[in-house]
Amino acid sequence: MKIKKIETSKINEIDFNNLKFGSVFTDHMFTCDFIKGEWINPEIIPYQSINVSPASRVFHYGQACFEGMKAFKDDNNKVWLFRPDENYKRIVKSSIRLAMPEFPEDIFFEGLKNLLRLDSDWIKPGLGNSLYIRPFIFANEGTINATEANQYKFMIICAPASSYYSGEVRVKIEKSFSRAAKGGVGYAKAAGNYAAQFYPTKLANNEGYQQIIWTDSSTHQYIEEAGTMNLFFRIGNKLITAPTNDSILDGVTRKSLIEIAKDEGIEVEIRPLKVNELINAAKNNTLIEIFGSGTAVVVLPIQGFGYENSRYELIQKENSWAIMLKNKLNNIQYKLIEDPYNWTVEV
Ligand SMILES: *Cc1c(COP(=O)(O)O)cnc(C)c1O
Repeated sequence: MKIKKIETSKINEIDFNNLKFGSVFTDHMFTCDFIKGEWINPEIIPYQSINVSPASRVFHYGQACFEGMKAFKDDNNKVWLFRPDENYKRIVKSSIRLAMPEFPEDIFFEGLKNLLRLDSDWIKPGLGNSLYIRPFIFANEGTINATEANQYKFMIICAPASSYYSGEVRVKIEKSFSRAAKGGVGYAKAAGNYAAQFYPTKLANNEGYQQIIWTDSSTHQYIEEAGTMNLFFRIGNKLITAPTNDSILDGVTRKSLIEIAKDEGIEVEIRPLKVNELINAAKNNTLIEIFGSGTAVVVLPIQGFGYENSRYELIQKENSWAIMLKNKLNNIQYKLIEDPYNWTVEV
């Protein structure tokens, strides 16, 4: 693998105490091209703009998908990835759905690890600090016939991240727009899934909600997910989350929290949850917590939600499962406790 190092690092210009998520990138990036049926020229080069044809199919037909993963530094300055094999498997699954070639596993991990070693100073130790890693693939063939492309680029870019207080989060249960349909691409991390959410989310923002809870596209009676996060509901003494299917993304954080919760003795129910059941639980005060899960936020407690013309507020409980689960997961990610699941991988 060719590695071209930057001449002078820009790390000293970065204010690590005031990082805006996803706006600062490390010194290097990984790139690899798919040309004539082969992945060729894997290399690490200084982070820079790239040259693409305006006819690249990604711009016209949205043929692109991505991943989101994190690296952490422990107190001995060792760098750890969290379940990277899951992200690799998922970008393959997404690529297949979008008729894109599978990126080879060995090049993925070699490129990723070399990149992290080169930019390891960008990963700050300490709870809350991490490196957000964004692998992605897009069609860069410069001919606009509406079929899958023959040429692609795979890249990895990295952004240092710190934990931030997101403020109180309230969500709107959406019943007219849909994020994903049966048979569609909802289970893939397809770039276009995000574009389709922006407009309904903007409308929800105007009504005072930060995010949307998506419901199933055919009946709008079942809770699906939040579109960047999977969702958990603590009703009575149970933790409920929807089963993944072709309109719900199979989140790595979700599946990790399910395992941790079970091992903490929490009764976890993986089953379809009706909006009606949620409303009833809110009305009879058995709804105790709602939280989202995803790589970027880890766990995000939700204060309230809206449905039709009503708003519901949750009363903050002392012994929050969201906070407990977040702490357990963080402790594993930062190697503060033993990792009984073998989820952490040393770089
Ligand atoms: C990435 C993503 C999630 C969260 O998945 P993690 O693997 O936990 O980061 C949830 N929903 C959607 C639609 C996503 O794209």
